[in-house]
Amino acid sequence: NESKGRLPKYPGLERWQLVEKMGDGAFSNVYRARDTQGNAGDVAIKVVRKFEMNSSQRANILKEVQIMRGLDHPNIVRLVDFSESKQYYYIILELAPGGELFHQIVRLTYFSEDLSRHVITQVAEALEYLHEEKGVVHRDIKPENLLFSPIPIVPSKNPKPRAPEDEDKVDEGEFIPGVGAGGIGQIKIADFGLSKVVWDTQTMTPCGTVGYTAPEIVKDERYSKSVDMWAMGCVLYTLLCGFPPFYDESIQVLTEKVAKGQYTFLSPWWDDISKSAQDLVSHLLTVDPNKRYTIRQFLDHPWIRNTKEPTYAAF
Ligand code: ADP
Ligand code: MG
Repeated sequence: NESKGRLPKYPGLERWQLVEKMGDGAFSNVYRARDTQGNAGDVAIKVVRKFEMNSSQRANILKEVQIMRGLDHPNIVRLVDFSESKQYYYIILELAPGGELFHQIVRLTYFSEDLSRHVITQVAEALEYLHEEKGVVHRDIKPENLLFSPIPIVPSKNPKPRAPEDEDKVDEGEFIPGVGAGGIGQIKIADFGLSKVVWDTQTMTPCGTVGYTAPEIVKDERYSKSVDMWAMGCVLYTLLCGFPPFYDESIQVLTEKVAKGQYTFLSPWWDDISKSAQDLVSHLLTVDPNKRYTIRQFLDHPWIRNTKEPTYAAF
């Protein structure tokens, strides 16, 4: 077990002392590391095995770094530094000590509506920044790429007494490490490995030489922001009930279901979830990208703004 045992030494990475392995991907390992010069605190380092990649894969890593360089938002993992050796790229990132949101879903089974709102609103704020200000589409929004920084939990001065038989019970937002009274903490979007710039914010035109861009490219790129909105719908669905909207053991059947937008608010799991939350999910899981909610519409939805739910349907 590498995370417990000896950690590798990488040439050119002497400033950082690797502490533990936090994750891995096809071409990379991610480590928690300590600044031996003592001023940057702990970071996450994505060590990418350059030697296993072809030139277009390498170019993608450089694009990932290039895009991250231009970003500055509290809900997006910050790029601290970037360097390389002969065999590796080192992407030094702000550490998200809470790890993946995915693990929290597994632990809690599902999130309450309030906790789900708290999480998805932060994801949405980062997407608003990416889509509206930076013209960046993330294209890989999913629980594994949503990390978080927990707020330190201040132990209560007057802890509620618990009966001995209730000692191992938890109240959401109170005693679960990483899920404090103010929520889960700060969500951090990670992994810009598939992200793309689609809109030049200076000129509000598609990137590249506009006059020469083919219509299908211009159209495609306008649609592409909507892929993040679909993904956010899948994340919100999963937060609320604990399982994803589309699933099948056969990839073929799964693909078919997604293509048709075939999902249901499955009983009994969805029985107690508000109609307003379901309404919002359904506006994200809309097959036609023209009809799917944009980030603006999402943020304006009553469930996000948390206005009282209407008792009767109003016409
Ligand atoms: P990949 O492209 O291989 O999916 P990611 O950038 O998503 O690479 O990193 C893989 C995993 O490493 C993440 O899912 C997460 O568990 C962990 N990780 C990545 N960046 C950080 C970070 N800044 N802080 C904490 N953990 C991280
Ligand atoms: Mg990832």
